[in-house]
Amino acid sequence: MTTNHELFQRAQQLMPGGVNSPVRAFKSVGGEPFFTARADGAYLWDVEGKRYIDYVGSWGPMIVGHNHPHVREAVERAVKNGLSYGTPCPAEVTMAEMITRLVPSIDMVRMVNSGTEATMSAIRLARGATGRNKIVKFEGCYHGHGDSFLVKAGSGALTFGVPTSPGVPKANADLTLTLAYNDLDAARALFDEYGNDIAGLIIEPVAGNMNCIPPKEGYLQGLRELCTKHGVLLIFDEVMTGFRVALGGAQAHYGVTPDLTTFGKIIGGGMPVGAYGGRRELMQQIAPAGPIYQAGTLSGNPVAMAAGLAMLELIQAPGFYEQLAARTRLLTDGLQAVADGEGLAFSTNRVGGMFGLFFTGEKVDTYAQATAADTALFNRFFHGMLERGVYLAPSAFEAGFVSSAHTEQDIADTLEAARAAMRAARAG
Ligand code: PMP
Repeated sequence: MTTNHELFQRAQQLMPGGVNSPVRAFKSVGGEPFFTARADGAYLWDVEGKRYIDYVGSWGPMIVGHNHPHVREAVERAVKNGLSYGTPCPAEVTMAEMITRLVPSIDMVRMVNSGTEATMSAIRLARGATGRNKIVKFEGCYHGHGDSFLVKAGSGALTFGVPTSPGVPKANADLTLTLAYNDLDAARALFDEYGNDIAGLIIEPVAGNMNCIPPKEGYLQGLRELCTKHGVLLIFDEVMTGFRVALGGAQAHYGVTPDLTTFGKIIGGGMPVGAYGGRRELMQQIAPAGPIYQAGTLSGNPVAMAAGLAMLELIQAPGFYEQLAARTRLLTDGLQAVADGEGLAFSTNRVGGMFGLFFTGEKVDTYAQATAADTALFNRFFHGMLERGVYLAPSAFEAGFVSSAHTEQDIADTLEAARAAMRAARAG
């Protein structure tokens, strides 16, 4: 039998860190990753035959569980007609109709192949449409690996960004201004100083890449007003929140209308897909309708569109989001009760089918609080859960995801594992 360890040994010789995307390597939590052989419903099975209750869900796309027959059959039907055409295909039109119907702020959409592509394209559009160069992002928010986004705050609150990766030119980072998430006064001050130079402000409307941090009451509305006042395009990066926190995404959940929206994950049903869209007069500026260039050989791929459409059909079932939120609540309330019972300082966040776990006694709504939580304890807890067949995101700074395939029994089993894992983690 091939073992996880054997595969990881081979993989490390062949791929940087043994993986094709860094977080998969378990660097943050330590130890070695498992290699998945198959996935179904709420579960993953590794190459050694061990089953895990999965709260990562391919980092978000698997909102109806893995290998859902409706999605799989749609893909099988599409595959019979060929894998890629390089011409327009009918499924793209259906997809655009579906997105514009479900997300009212979007009149027109462009499909791409990943969340990264979606966000890079959206800021190009923001720059092209406004004739300004600066963008604003938030510390702890992730928007893919485009140069403009691999930037953290400089030393002062209002300084220009500095690259977080070698290879990102300083000149590029200089154009990215960074702000603390959930601090409206800081945003006001920044806009007062640089408002006329800012093309777009991009934000995860629920932050999911610094654990899970929802916006404070009125925060997104405040940003909306600031952007409108200064002629800055408000970009909601809904790669994670889109079709997850509500059918219409975070913008529907919080009732705030962005100028542009980016999507990924769920919109592809597990295939490599992203999208960006917004008001007609903005999207009409994209080539070939307008002068702002953006393209993709495989964009609107017929198989990917079939998977995404099948997924978008499933999540429109009546009561889908109520049930997803109720399951997520069962999980986070349950974990809180377990932690309280074990005498551990612990708190949770949750919006729709998205959740965050923090080993701290405070309710977390800032990046500083998230980074101050006990990550060593989280890492021990993570491994305790993994041992007991529960797969949480392998980092204290990632959101967790519940799917409609998670049953009450799965949650009960997770809580039982959590009791033992918390006890062991506390012991050190
Ligand atoms: N934006 C957000 C909010 C994300 O969470 C991610 C990926 N986790 C991305 C953009 C980038 O998407 P991708 O990995 O598909 O390039």
